[in-house]
Amino acid sequence: MAGSPDPSCVFCKIAAGQIPCFKVYEDDVVLAFLDIGPIVRGHTLVIPKAHHATVMEIPPELLGAVNQRIPKIAKAVLAEVGVSACHVLVNNGAEAMQSVHHLHYHIIPRTPGDGIHIPWNTRNLDKAAGATLAQAIQKGIHP
Ligand code: ZN
Repeated sequence: MAGSPDPSCVFCKIAAGQIPCFKVYEDDVVLAFLDIGPIVRGHTLVIPKAHHATVMEIPPELLGAVNQRIPKIAKAVLAEVGVSACHVLVNNGAEAMQSVHHLHYHIIPRTPGDGIHIPWNTRNLDKAAGATLAQAIQKGIHP
């Protein structure tokens, strides 16, 4: 059942206290803890305690509740690291680099000159193709 603990999920085990973590915040909805493979100091994960794989699968109300917690956690991380910029990043699905299939937000503080590079190879949006695509997506949202 959606939301139930998945016995094969490492984040469910962390949320249940079966695997230790470096906890930075916890309440009835979320758990936040340091990523054990940080790409920078302060790299923090925020997870809903309930098991949902992606933002497409979690109930919107719960996603909203998770998002309500992000600002205060991010502000505390940034204050401790001593910077003012960060990524709040969610990978949804294996093709999008999601390695643990339990929804999690990465809070990644950024420091000038930290050497982190996220490839963002933009292309020009074709106007005709863009109009067609936008309409198709609109129809999917408001069928
Ligand atoms: Zn899980």
